[in-house]
Amino acid sequence: MTRRLLPGRLVVASHNRGKIVEIAELVAPFGVTPVSAADLGLPEPEETGTTFAANAELKARASALATGLPALADDSGLSVAALGGDPGIYSARWAGETRDFTLAMQKVEDALQVAGATTAPLRRAHFTCALSLAWPDGEILTVEGEVHGRLVWPPRGGNGFGYDAVFLADGQSETFGEMEPAAKHGMSHRARAFALLKAACLDGGA
Ligand code: IMP
Repeated sequence: MTRRLLPGRLVVASHNRGKIVEIAELVAPFGVTPVSAADLGLPEPEETGTTFAANAELKARASALATGLPALADDSGLSVAALGGDPGIYSARWAGETRDFTLAMQKVEDALQVAGATTAPLRRAHFTCALSLAWPDGEILTVEGEVHGRLVWPPRGGNGFGYDAVFLADGQSETFGEMEPAAKHGMSHRARAFALLKAACLDGGA
């Protein structure tokens, strides 16, 4: 049986305000009070892992060890089949120092054109979200959620963030950038990872 997350403080090992809000909403009904790594003045560890899971784990572990509290971290990104999985764990970095995702989407599209990936079946892609919950004694649980689809061009829609405007999930007619946020949150990689974590640690599922 997986260890349960008990009521009390939980460090959210992220400096991203949006992620902290999403996680706060998830854990609030279980008596868990999130505090952000940024508010605690914790440094952001370098993401030296080679997988989403490894990066989520190193962030969660660092915060749990530094604070003596359980800590939750996530790592996510877009993997494009025709590009051998790129940008993958480098999804944020493809947007450069200024986090320019218009540029990052263009880079992906340029690479797809170079690879000759011009028809829908050749433009498969998926988002992954790894979530890790680390306890200060070293125990750690990691789950992953994915959402599969294909990339469209040009970008469509002004909702969401990152690569949302070029991602069309399977069975959908709107990109994540065109969808209402609630619709995206109902099917996203992050929602799927959260559901697994909740079942394992918050609902006492497994
Ligand atoms: P992280 O904050 O290091 O996990 O970086 C994740 C990056 O992956 C983000 O900056 C986005 O570029 C991309 N990404 C992750 N999730 C999504 C999503 O739901 N929509 C669009 N882009 C995403």
